[in-house]
Amino acid sequence: MRSLTAVELFIFGFFILGAVPVKDVFAKKRKTMVERQLKARDITDDKVLSAMAKVKRELFVPPPVQPAAYEDYPLSIGYGQTISQPYIVAYMTQAAKLKPGDKVLEIGTGSGYQAAILAELVKEVYTIEILEPLARQAEKRLSDSGYKNIQVKFGDGYRGWQEHAPYDAIIVTAAPSQIPQELVNQLKTGGLMVVPVGDFFQELYLIEKTEDGFTTRTLLPVRFVPMIKK
Ligand code: SAH
Repeated sequence: MRSLTAVELFIFGFFILGAVPVKDVFAKKRKTMVERQLKARDITDDKVLSAMAKVKRELFVPPPVQPAAYEDYPLSIGYGQTISQPYIVAYMTQAAKLKPGDKVLEIGTGSGYQAAILAELVKEVYTIEILEPLARQAEKRLSDSGYKNIQVKFGDGYRGWQEHAPYDAIIVTAAPSQIPQELVNQLKTGGLMVVPVGDFFQELYLIEKTEDGFTTRTLLPVRFVPMIKK
């Protein structure tokens, strides 16, 4: 085989050097996000940290905001909706105390990012989105990314997904005014629900289903988009 000419080497090198940094930028930003926004705060669950270090958040946001994919704030995903700040995704996931064999329901698929994080940690993920274009887009994105344990449904989250109930955990990523009773009904006894509740002022609640009702603990003040009532 002949050796490459200087010009060919230059062109070759240009493409290699040009492509690598682009790929590295996101990997580096992802690592920094895990260190500074999660570990430096109160995210201590190794499995949650690994999932956050693995899922490529840049693939879940619209191209114009990709450079900001790992910033410490929510981002617009169109249709008036947002993808939560990385810390909040990690915090809610950690609060749900997930186990590998769990079956989890998410309300508010949005970009599909939270569903992907859940799918790294549990056996089955069911997720419901009320805006059809977002549901379809997330469904395609998640299957293109190779997730086989996530099912997306276009529908109203207030009704839950009875067919697959009861769930070990439910994560609600839009804010209802009150705790949705139907979702509590679809939890297993001992199951946990993480849900932001309130209109303007919201609190993140951790609800545990008991034999005869449920207990409620407030975790922290939050700001989510409202859960849409049909
Ligand atoms: N978990 C998402 C972010 C969610 S933003 C992510 O990781 O990207 C909240 C989402 O909840 C929006 O997409 C919104 O359309 C959806 N939503 C609002 N009300 C809903 C309802 N009643 N049922 C299902 N989804 C709802």
